[in-house]
Amino acid sequence: MSLPLKPLPTVERWDCHQCGVCCRGSVVPLSDEDLARLKAQKWEEHPDYQGTKVITRESWGGRDYRLAHRDDGSCVFLLPDGLCRIHKELGFDAKPLICRMFPLQVVPRDGVAMLTIRRACPSAAADRGRPVAEQLDFAKKLARERGLTDQKVEPPPIKPGESRSWPATRRVLGAIQRLTSDERFPPVRRLAHLLLFCRLLDRAKTKPLDDAKLGELADVLEASVSEEVGDLFSTRRPPQPAAAVLFRQIAAEYVRLHPRYYVRPSWSTRLGLAWTAFKMIRGRGPLPRLHPQFPTATFEQLEAPLGRMDAALYQPFARLVETSAESWSYALAGRAGWSVVESAAQLAITYPVGLWLLRWASAGREPTLEDVFDIVTALDRGQGYGPLSGAKQRQRLRVLLSLDEFPRLVAWYGR
Ligand code: SF4
Repeated sequence: MSLPLKPLPTVERWDCHQCGVCCRGSVVPLSDEDLARLKAQKWEEHPDYQGTKVITRESWGGRDYRLAHRDDGSCVFLLPDGLCRIHKELGFDAKPLICRMFPLQVVPRDGVAMLTIRRACPSAAADRGRPVAEQLDFAKKLARERGLTDQKVEPPPIKPGESRSWPATRRVLGAIQRLTSDERFPPVRRLAHLLLFCRLLDRAKTKPLDDAKLGELADVLEASVSEEVGDLFSTRRPPQPAAAVLFRQIAAEYVRLHPRYYVRPSWSTRLGLAWTAFKMIRGRGPLPRLHPQFPTATFEQLEAPLGRMDAALYQPFARLVETSAESWSYALAGRAGWSVVESAAQLAITYPVGLWLLRWASAGREPTLEDVFDIVTALDRGQGYGPLSGAKQRQRLRVLLSLDEFPRLVAWYGR
């Protein structure tokens, strides 16, 4: 039986403004149906595609193939006028499902599927367009085509090795949702609360508790975390060096998803990435030149507080976190096998990473909303991106949780 598809209670808005960002530097994993359709379209016989691969073998988001890129990272089907060649020559329905659906996203849950938007689209990040609720019929049609609302979804473990029923898991996910949208506090402080909640839940001896007692514990922890922050926001203290290294390594993964700084995979860029990794660990002096157009800056500059910044510049980062928590996409999409605690830690770290990247992207000048939307695109592209959804990333997060440094990282880089 199909799950009912519903928009989020928070109004999200989107319409396509044809900026072409989704056709540059993003990865389009192909399902078996997409592959069959593309093969039937016989692009190898098209005069413009002879000798050009339109499909590449690369594992991403649980699929083994994706649409090929040109050297500049743009989709092989993107035309100079910004249009998609498949769409232009064969019509909308001939495109892979992800291209037709983007940025709409269906998140199947227990008894319902939520319709949300991927904020990797700048129009979605800016909430520009019609309410997503008005696009429900269109999304239902696409979701039906691939059975996206037919899947039975198992609850993710609440922490490694501890799976619970849906009602108990829902209590934990609900607490996380409320903590990230608690309007009594600024976004950066909500995330500190969320991370304290994760730490307390992670360390609590929950295995002997039945589901009802676990739900009660989640409620108690949720109510207590605002008292736990201590002097975190009154005294500005840097994170421990080991935590700062892990933070920079995570941030470096997101730089590679920035829509303006596509780095073509090659041996020389691999060597460059190895050098970048070394510099990220050292964390002193000039930042590595990841792309010729990326601004020059020093690591020291990125440690400085942001100071007074227009609230509108924080808003897209906060919306990314809030809507992920509301749809549960952070826990249910693109991170198979992760526990809720780990997924919530990953969600929380996107905010300080985003503001660290903003310091870098706008080094030597005032940050703009365009800078912010580019960075939100990079952060959202992290969903399903191998280096940010695999074992290595999970290990980094576990170390940060064990060092107790997460809230301090958020307080240090998030403002
Ligand atoms: S990124 Fe968004 S606004 Fe830009 S072309 Fe893609 S769907 Fe349209």
